[in-house]
Amino acid sequence: MEKVIIQGIQFDDKSSYQQGSKLAPPLIRSALYSGSLNLCSEDGTPIETNRLIDRGDFEIKDYFEIETITKNHLTTDHKILTLGGDHSITFPIIKAHHKKYPKLDILQIDAHTDLYDNFEGDKYSHACPFARIMEAGFAVKLVQVGIRSLNSHQLEQIEKFKVEVHEMRNLDLSKISKFENPLYISLDLDGIDPAYAPGVSHHEPGGLTSRQVIDLIQNLEAEVIGADIVEYNPNRDLHDMTAFLAAKIMKEILVKMSSSAWQ
Ligand code: MN
Ligand code: MN
Repeated sequence: MEKVIIQGIQFDDKSSYQQGSKLAPPLIRSALYSGSLNLCSEDGTPIETNRLIDRGDFEIKDYFEIETITKNHLTTDHKILTLGGDHSITFPIIKAHHKKYPKLDILQIDAHTDLYDNFEGDKYSHACPFARIMEAGFAVKLVQVGIRSLNSHQLEQIEKFKVEVHEMRNLDLSKISKFENPLYISLDLDGIDPAYAPGVSHHEPGGLTSRQVIDLIQNLEAEVIGADIVEYNPNRDLHDMTAFLAAKIMKEILVKMSSSAWQ
C-alpha cells in the first residue's frame, strides 16, 4: 500500500534575513492534529493517518545531510511531504528525488524566484535553490506562481533556465501549462499575501489569497509525487494563523499526492 512519509527538516541557516523557520515543522503538525480542523480535504476525502508515516523532525547541522535523510526515506515506494525549514532545503530534496524521477516537473508557489546564482556569497542560500536545480538538470519544467519581486539578474536567470513565470501582476491561473511529467510542489508560504500568512520572514504584499492557492492545488491534473511546505516562521505569526493555513493546504496536497491510496 502506497503511503506518504512526512519528514520535518529543522533548518534555517541559509535564511538571509531572519531565522525562525527551523521551528516550523512541529507547529504545523500540531495545528493539523489540534482538533480545530477535521482530517479531510475539502472534497470530503479522509486523510487516513494509518496511511501516513511520520518520521518526525530532523535537526540539521550540515546542509548536505538533508539529501541523505531524504534519500533514506525514498528507498521505499513511498512519497515524501517535507515540512521546512527555509527554502534552501528544496535543492537537496530534489537532488535526492532525481534518481527515482529523472523527468520531473516542479510547481513553485513563491513571492520570489529563488533563482539567484549566489546570494551574499552563498550558492546554497534560500535565494538560490532553483538556480541549482535548473543548472543540474533536475527539472524538465519549472513553473513559478506568485512572483512579485523581480530584478534584472532574476530576469536573466528566468531567460537562461526557461522558467515559466506567472507574476502576480496580470495573474491568470488558467494560463499555467499542463504538467506532463511527475510533479513536485514546492510551497513557499510567502507566495501567499502576508494578510493571510503573516508567519513568514519576508512580507511581500500583493500576493496570492489562501483560496487561490487551495484552488490551484485542487485543480492540478498531474501525478504529484512529492511536496514541501517551507518558510513558515512562527516568530512572525499571529494566533498561529499561518500554521493553520499550512496545515489546511497540507491536507489538500496529501490528497493529491496519494488520491488512489485514500480510496
Ligand atoms: Mn522561496
Ligand atoms: Mn519566498
